[in-house]
Amino acid sequence: MLSPTPSPVHDVIVVGARAAGAATALLLARLGHDVLVVDRTELPSDTISTHQLARTGVVALQRWGLLDEVIASGAPAIRQVTFHTIGDPGHPPRSPVIRAIKDKSGVDCLVAPRRWVLDTLVARAAERAGATIRYGVTVNGVLRDSAGRVVGVRGHDERDQPVELRARFVVGADGLGSRIARSVGAPRIADRGAPGAALYAYYTGLPWPGIEFVTRTGSFAGVFPTHHGEAVIWICLPTATALAARKGRPPEAAFETLLARAAPELAERLRDGVRTSPVRGMLRAPNQIRRGVGPGWALVGDAAHHRDPVTGHGISDAYRDAELLAVALDAALTGAAEEQVALEQYEQARLRESAEIFDLTYALAQYPPVSTFIELNKRLGDAIDTEAAALAARPIPGAALTWA
Ligand SMILES: Cc1cc2nc3c(=O)[nH]c(=O)nc-3n(C[C@H](O)[C@H](O)[C@H](O)COP(=O)(O)OP(=O)(O)OC[C@H]3O[C@@H](n4cnc5c(N)ncnc54)[C@H](O)[C@@H]3O)c2cc1C
Repeated sequence: MLSPTPSPVHDVIVVGARAAGAATALLLARLGHDVLVVDRTELPSDTISTHQLARTGVVALQRWGLLDEVIASGAPAIRQVTFHTIGDPGHPPRSPVIRAIKDKSGVDCLVAPRRWVLDTLVARAAERAGATIRYGVTVNGVLRDSAGRVVGVRGHDERDQPVELRARFVVGADGLGSRIARSVGAPRIADRGAPGAALYAYYTGLPWPGIEFVTRTGSFAGVFPTHHGEAVIWICLPTATALAARKGRPPEAAFETLLARAAPELAERLRDGVRTSPVRGMLRAPNQIRRGVGPGWALVGDAAHHRDPVTGHGISDAYRDAELLAVALDAALTGAAEEQVALEQYEQARLRESAEIFDLTYALAQYPPVSTFIELNKRLGDAIDTEAAALAARPIPGAALTWA
């Protein structure tokens, strides 16, 4: 192998170009910093996700001037949610409850854009703001100076040529299996285990008037309308239940069996539709938080904080924390705050702002009886409203500068 070509020292290298990485790069570039993003895969491409944004994520897109672009891409503006509840044995059946999406924190709709559309759109906005993105670069570890401070990353490009890239800060936005987290030795500061699973597939050929949630003891299922007249049909449930349904059968047959139990009326309706994808998902979804900062490095998104998909909050966590991190790195880079102080402020803010939803997510991923599950979901709705209002009330990073 050849020696890597020396590279300029960037202000920030972001590893990972999806929800957390593209958003962090977008905001830092708008704040005037020299940002290089690297990702081993190329966008547009998909990733495992049912891609519904909680209000916080929609507020973030609105603040960054990207919500109209997401809707113009063909992601339906969702204005209605239907709650179906299948009572426990001995309880009378409950009628579906239909609610309009309220106009709060500056947004009056929700969206569930396909990730290959959403992530690409935010990454392109980062490029328009001045960030450079290099796809096909796989990072293997960090570079350190003689004092142990992280000063860059090493890896290889798509032709297997070695790459060494230097920066004042390295951001690990490289997802749950974060190589940056492992390289810097970021300890897990919370680890509640991984009881839950989420499975999904895309369907077409039916009307999708809005989001639907179906609650039953032992499962949570639903519908998120997305691009191209399709909806993602999903089931969240204990991993043990998902594995028991599988037992040597094709994933699609297991999914249909699970859906028929979790949401019988929805399963019946889907007989008139067409499944357009294989079944995808995740078993044993971790609920964990890593230490997110250290000398010369920070983590954001799933690299820093992973929770069960049952609350559909991962993109919103990533966007919220991308704003907190961009503000902290801007303060450190401009000298407005000492680096250690700025990074610790990010760390404490993201832990504080994610705590309630992390706890509620973990409680929901235990699949308690239906009445408790509904109560927890109501608390989740209130927590998201508070979180979205807090985000909407902050100054928008880089908004004072002109951006396209
Ligand atoms: C089944 C399921 C359903 C979900 N549904 C929802 C939902 O409805 N709503 C929601 O908000 N969230 C949902 N989530 C969570 C959401 O998908 C994640 O929280 C979100 O993708 C995290 O974004 P991220 O940018 O932190 O990481 P990722 O999306 O994982 O992106 C990490 C990027 O880093 C790159 N990368 C990784 N390692 C390297 C390396 N060594 N070198 C270079 N590049 C690297 C990868 O190629 C990738 O592009 C779901 C998750 C699952 C598993």
